[in-house]
Amino acid sequence: MKFNTKAIHGGQHHDPSTGAVMPPVYQTSTFAQTSPGVHTGYEYSRAANPTRTALENALASIENGTRGLAFSSGLAATDTVMKLLKPGDEVIAMDDLYGGTYRMFTRIYADYGITFHFVDLNDTEKLKALINDKTKLVWMETPTNPLMKLADISAVAEITKSKNILFAVDNTFATPYLQRPLDLGADIVMHSATKYLGGHSDVIAGALVVRDESLGEKLHFAQFATGGTLGPQDSYLVLRGIKTLHIRMERHCLNGQKVAEYLAQHPKVATVFYPGLESHPQHELAKRQMQGGFGGMVSFTFKSGEKADAISFLENVKVFTLAESLGGVESLANHPALMTHASIPEPKRKEIGITDDLVRLSVGIEDIDDLIEDIETALAP
Ligand SMILES: *Cc1c(COP(=O)(O)O)cnc(C)c1O
Repeated sequence: MKFNTKAIHGGQHHDPSTGAVMPPVYQTSTFAQTSPGVHTGYEYSRAANPTRTALENALASIENGTRGLAFSSGLAATDTVMKLLKPGDEVIAMDDLYGGTYRMFTRIYADYGITFHFVDLNDTEKLKALINDKTKLVWMETPTNPLMKLADISAVAEITKSKNILFAVDNTFATPYLQRPLDLGADIVMHSATKYLGGHSDVIAGALVVRDESLGEKLHFAQFATGGTLGPQDSYLVLRGIKTLHIRMERHCLNGQKVAEYLAQHPKVATVFYPGLESHPQHELAKRQMQGGFGGMVSFTFKSGEKADAISFLENVKVFTLAESLGGVESLANHPALMTHASIPEPKRKEIGITDDLVRLSVGIEDIDDLIEDIETALAP
């Protein structure tokens, strides 16, 4: 089955009791048993719920995995991966990460005796040099949030496979429409389903997908034992979102490319971070690793280098909404240093390039003319 068909039908069955085409929202915590321990496969909704199962099967299908797990948030999904680790273990992570992931690693799990190394995973020599027998996990985001840096999934997978280290990729920005990490050798795909998978800014949800069944079992056990599961109503919303993922992504990519190209020629703009631009330092890798476009996330800085210019732009946009989050049908604009990435200490932010004049756009699927006009006007004063 091709991707666009999988987005709609992958892992789905009509409801066996009524023929309902969409899975009912099984708003129930528990399931009747005919004799103690004799049940339909469903006992208690923390372990499994049919609406969540329908979503989990769809997730597995679109990421070409065998097992999908749906969580109450993206961070709950990441947290469950961390539960595979023990004190003394080491993690090597990309040096440009979603702020909340960085916060979890450094302020929760560092206190549990896990050591984190943050490196640019494009530097495979550095990666190899950091690996020792305590290294249990490599964590990558590509493209990264907010600087749209890429890392080569296949190149890292080759190294982690040879050393028997788990390799997880946060695929939130690209989505499986553009990039399928399991096909490229990763062991775990993680999503903030709050973003493109849900696609309508109406739900907080997360996902993990794996190919290895025993890894899937371990992750399901950790999820079941600690409880970060997604409720049936939210599972339904994400499943509904996935059914239009391919159509939405197509438009996000077209609009993202046009916004990036417009910004790149604007006299007030210094740098545009978008993998679809030839000026992007990893444009060749992007073409190889992502198919069908380069996504809807675009970041840029000002020639003046002034925070005031970024703030004035963000106060003046009208079609774009000034808000955290991304990946919904509507366009959003954000100031990473003051908003989404405020949890990263300032010196660290500066080091990785999250400057005070950096603006991040989540380009939605509105008419491109209205988006460009909005940007033009907000850049004018
Ligand atoms: C939003 C986001 C997360 C966290 O997901 P939540 O659903 O907010 O918990 C993780 N990674 C990336 C890249 C994100 O954008």
